[in-house]
Amino acid sequence: MTEITNTLSLPLPWQESIWSELTQYIYTDRLPHAILLSGPSGIGKGRLAIALAERLLCGSESHDYACGICKSCTLLNAGSHPDLFPISIPEKSKNISIDEIRKLSSVISKTAQQGGRKVAIINPAEALNINASNALLKSLEEPQGKTVLILVAHRPTLLSATIRSRCQIIQLTPPSCELATSWLNSMVTDQTNIDKALEISDGRPLLALDYLRSDSLRDQQYFEEVVSAVRTGDLSFIEAAQQCAKLDIGPALEWFISYLHRSVIKDKRMRSNQNIYLFLDRLNYMYSLIVSGSNVNQLLMWEELLMSWRQTYFSK
Ligand SMILES: [Zn+2]
Repeated sequence: MTEITNTLSLPLPWQESIWSELTQYIYTDRLPHAILLSGPSGIGKGRLAIALAERLLCGSESHDYACGICKSCTLLNAGSHPDLFPISIPEKSKNISIDEIRKLSSVISKTAQQGGRKVAIINPAEALNINASNALLKSLEEPQGKTVLILVAHRPTLLSATIRSRCQIIQLTPPSCELATSWLNSMVTDQTNIDKALEISDGRPLLALDYLRSDSLRDQQYFEEVVSAVRTGDLSFIEAAQQCAKLDIGPALEWFISYLHRSVIKDKRMRSNQNIYLFLDRLNYMYSLIVSGSNVNQLLMWEELLMSWRQTYFSK
């Protein structure tokens, strides 16, 4: 007997209640034509979007999950379903341009090739540039029959308010520590660093898993040592900036934001320092510039940020 290799996605254990809500919408034919999955990165929104898209395209309507064996599922398994349109940031590009959305609008205006639904996943939706965002609005305002648009956003406030208002927003949060730990236990063989990985990822299991499977955990720990050394004056901000500029800027800014959140929770002295919150706003602003594809001089940016970080701590 030939073994069927099923590569279809299932929702993650902590997404069960939202999944049953979504399947109820499908069974009762009340699924909105545009859904925005919103919440921090690293908690499985992308995986949920794919699982939902596959369930919507599966030819067997009576299952809670995509059946894995019908013609549609076979095409999904092979990565060649003609009615699934995943849109992400193209390689060598920093955002999603109007061309991508024009292509999408043109295909969704046609009948589904497999006769069922058409599903588009836009991930991350905050990477839509202004023209792409305006073009998408048209598709959201004039929904095409049997088309479902699934938007995924880590930072939904970066999306235009009009886009958000056209979508049913589903807010996702990190799971409980117990659930995250037990899931990670089942995913890795070396369980030594699970607690640490969950701590520095703010309880986001997929991010923690990335840390456990790569050098990121070591890099993030190193980054936090550098930032702490600037704070205590053991390292100059110029030297620290040179070290930080060697890191991938997006994750490094995320580490800084997460480090501050954790420090504020742990340290009463930091919590009462209003400058910390202004600095956090600045970090969030820099991070939004980076994710929206702005070009920045990284060394200069780190010098300014780390100088300001040192002053923040000492100019209470
Ligand atoms: Zn199926």
